[in-house]
Amino acid sequence: MQRLQDRVAVITGAGSGIGLATARRFAQEGAKVVVADLDEEAGAKAAAEVGGLFVKADVANEDDVTRMYRTAFEEFGSVDIAFNNAGISPPDDDSILETGLDAWRRVQEVNLTSVYLCCKHVIPYMQRQGKGSIINTASFVAVMGSATSQISYTASKGGVLAMSRELGVQFAREGIRVNALCPGPVDTPLLRELFAKDPERAQRRLVHVPIGRFARAEEIAAAVAFLASDDASFITASEFLVDGGISGA
Ligand code: NAD
Repeated sequence: MQRLQDRVAVITGAGSGIGLATARRFAQEGAKVVVADLDEEAGAKAAAEVGGLFVKADVANEDDVTRMYRTAFEEFGSVDIAFNNAGISPPDDDSILETGLDAWRRVQEVNLTSVYLCCKHVIPYMQRQGKGSIINTASFVAVMGSATSQISYTASKGGVLAMSRELGVQFAREGIRVNALCPGPVDTPLLRELFAKDPERAQRRLVHVPIGRFARAEEIAAAVAFLASDDASFITASEFLVDGGISGA
């Protein structure tokens, strides 16, 4: 019997990076995976690879989010795990003095409002089941700020962390665990895109990682699989840091 045998997992942003690595890991551990992404090509490819179901969804759009969970439920009969992971990187110059209101709002919509929408619409399924595990992707910057000046991004991830704690406490007695995943820098397209624009930023970031390298997406996926599983049955409302020691330094 595998750890996630027959659990139904909905992963947002599963077409790339951390989401894709987690879709692979969940499938290996026996889960039925719903791959949700805005990018149709990447999402369909990921779903085909893991033998899952693709749902095209913009996580900032409430109709898309409700359709995403309805589709998962109609297809598989439950929604046991929600990995609310889709997110975007900060605008080019995300210092508070430079970030415009439109860019700020877009980051909050995709990174924070999306998590509100996903939790709001998945919790009723989990309440009916009397169990569920929600993992929301925050970031180490939510815990300690950022050395690279990214105010809209850091604020959005701080909101994800606070919301996860609140919901974890609120729904603990109903068997629903809610945790915030706080990765350190992970070698994914999101990070590579950021560093391609500003190579010095990569160096500045790297010196802060005690382990001395960026994470592989698979290392983050391993932590998500743990949080999703019954091995983490006493873990809720936590900030789960997988950051190579950054926050401890
Ligand atoms: P990525 O760019 O590799 O993948 C993100 C995926 O989300 C893409 O497939 C993209 O199409 C999808 N997406 C973007 N906007 C969407 C929307 N509105 N609706 C649905 N899907 C959408 O990024 P990643 O590095 O794997 O990041 C995943 C999460 O991890 C993000 O929330 C990110 O903020 C967070 N994170 C990343 C790092 C890092 O260093 N890579 C560190 C900490 C936290």
